[in-house]
Amino acid sequence: MKPIFHPKLVNPPLGDPGLLVQFLYERRALLFDLGDIAALPNVTLLKVSHVFVSHTHIDHFIGFDRLLRVVFGQGKTLTLYGPAGIIANVEGKLAGFTWNLVDRYHQAITIDVVEVRPGHLLSARFRAVDKFKRSEEGRRENDDGLLLDEPGFSVRAAILEHRVPCLGFALKEKFHINIDKDALDARGLPPGPWLNELKQCIYGEKPDGHCLTVSAGRGGPEKTISLGELKRDLVRITAGQKIAYVVDTVYNEGNKKRIVDLVRGADLFFCESPFIAEEEERARDRCHLTSLQAGTLAREAEVRELRVFHFSPRHTFRQQQLVREAEAAFHGNGGPGRTVDQEA
Ligand SMILES: [Zn+2]
Ligand SMILES: [Zn+2]
Repeated sequence: MKPIFHPKLVNPPLGDPGLLVQFLYERRALLFDLGDIAALPNVTLLKVSHVFVSHTHIDHFIGFDRLLRVVFGQGKTLTLYGPAGIIANVEGKLAGFTWNLVDRYHQAITIDVVEVRPGHLLSARFRAVDKFKRSEEGRRENDDGLLLDEPGFSVRAAILEHRVPCLGFALKEKFHINIDKDALDARGLPPGPWLNELKQCIYGEKPDGHCLTVSAGRGGPEKTISLGELKRDLVRITAGQKIAYVVDTVYNEGNKKRIVDLVRGADLFFCESPFIAEEEERARDRCHLTSLQAGTLAREAEVRELRVFHFSPRHTFRQQQLVREAEAAFHGNGGPGRTVDQEA
């Protein structure tokens, strides 16, 4: 199975937290958190369609300016999700610059902001052509934390405690479409962008009679084949990929349940682990997790792989210890999962 999501932490575990998820065969990416994103090239930032901000402590939000600088003038719409207060935070950021020249652009950029509240979502739009004045404010009910629901995947959030509300996220591919390479060869069909179109037709539930045009190799004749035939001969459906991201949160019963419910069964769980196991009290005081707590959450959520990060700078020389402790808790009584640190 060729995974569709390609996740990568933006920085090493001592740097600002952030996760970039790029899509296979698509010029598209999602970004979880907006801390220091200097490590991401402009060409990558231009692929970002949606940004999910856990909370607006500076190590999770300082990168907003860089992202805005790169995407400004490209005419795109960027959607940003965050916890209570995010609309005012974005508005405040935008108010920090002078926009007297934006009317020279037809459509410089539009920023849609969605604020995740208990039971509902608030939204607002900031358009460059309006000098980023807040507009189109809205509110809709939201009981299940579902933020983004596209034909192929969804993103959910849980509101976690960190003295301020902090969002945890789960990205889930609805199901995975595998293309049988042997069957493709047997029919003399070349791989190419048309396979992406085929997948979009399946995710979009197009009828089997819908036809796709497939060019048979370089310079070869084009063939028209029905979706039903392609599905029957080339497509194998398996479970979709799930990636979870949790940072800056305290370990207590309520939070634990919310995290385990959100993260359950993830293929890959990115979890903060600022403190070593014996620093439970320090972690509680600062509303963060220890390595042991991160590993325990991963075990209880039955994830396949745990990746710990967002280490406290006081543990610069104890990074392996943080990983080892998280791994030990994750494996518990010899569970099937494995833990690796960010650079693995
Ligand atoms: Zn943080
Ligand atoms: Zn924080």
